[in-house]
Amino acid sequence: MRPRLLPGGHHLDGVHVLRGHTDVVRLRAAFETGRRVVIVGAGFLGMEVAASARRLGLDVTVVDPLAQPMMRQLGPEIGAAIADLHRAHGVDLRTGVGVREIRGEDDRVTGVALSDGAVVPADCVLVSIGAEPNVDWLGGSGLPLGDGVECDEFCRAAPGVYAAGDVASWIHPGYGRRMRLEHRMNATEQGTAAALNLLHGDERPFSPLPYFWTDQYEVKIQAHGVLPEGGEVTFEKGSPGDERFVAVYRVDGRVTGVLGWNAPALILPYRKQMLEALAAR
Ligand SMILES: Cc1cc2nc3c(=O)[nH]c(=O)nc-3n(C[C@H](O)[C@H](O)[C@H](O)COP(=O)(O)OP(=O)(O)OC[C@H]3O[C@@H](n4cnc5c(N)ncnc54)[C@H](O)[C@@H]3O)c2cc1C
Repeated sequence: MRPRLLPGGHHLDGVHVLRGHTDVVRLRAAFETGRRVVIVGAGFLGMEVAASARRLGLDVTVVDPLAQPMMRQLGPEIGAAIADLHRAHGVDLRTGVGVREIRGEDDRVTGVALSDGAVVPADCVLVSIGAEPNVDWLGGSGLPLGDGVECDEFCRAAPGVYAAGDVASWIHPGYGRRMRLEHRMNATEQGTAAALNLLHGDERPFSPLPYFWTDQYEVKIQAHGVLPEGGEVTFEKGSPGDERFVAVYRVDGRVTGVLGWNAPALILPYRKQMLEALAAR
């Protein structure tokens, strides 16, 4: 995977991406010398780094063109709760606004110009606007490449060729559609499934219940299943603003996902219910 980049500004000192160990070391060093951090992109990475930077006492501005942080992954209701959480911790969260230009002087970043005309001064800018599968080297191999290496339900891209993890999309038999997940748990489970199918023949389709978590400040958010855009969300134990709550995602009345906000035990019954429904399909 490689970080998605903005059209310009990455040559400036003080402009970072976050993917590997070297990136982490550089970013941590930048946090020791600069006070003003601007994070472009309010996804998982951006919001987790915002929380860490605030914990270090830095001034943090987060910019995203969508209406709420993490909206693509969690929907607008939870996005709004995450926005409240970060604002309560002192993040200057600017949603609904894009980046026009990263500005610099003498090859060093000085600020970020936004689409609403504002200019946010910065010592350090993190561009966290997603990542792309590194599949260029497979061009001409004959493997199906689209959203990563495209596999069937057995994680098989071609006879004898299997793929797993961030770089692989596959047909999820339970949901009947192609998926590509960028979560650690999936990389482990899919790696195991691909290896078994490679060694034993295509015995078992890969049909997991997706799972991920994110830790921000004192909040642990965990989600099981699929949280589809446009799904109906109801709060079943507590509600946003409470210390803990459970959000249940439904499509056509059927539970497709559950999210716990500091509620690891409360969401397990929903997980069980979704696993049973997947197995029955
Ligand atoms: C900063 C950050 C924080 C994250 N936090 C979380 C989290 O809290 N929870 C969570 O669930 N997920 C998290 N993720 C996502 C998680 O790290 C990935 O989903 C997981 O690492 C995917 O595993 P993978 O083996 O598919 O890919 P990777 O871990 O990226 O490993 C791929 C390996 O392949 C190597 N490689 C690349 N090209 C080639 C080639 N041509 N030949 C040989 N080797 C090659 C790479 O160097 C790398 O070592 C995070 C990701 C990042 C970047």
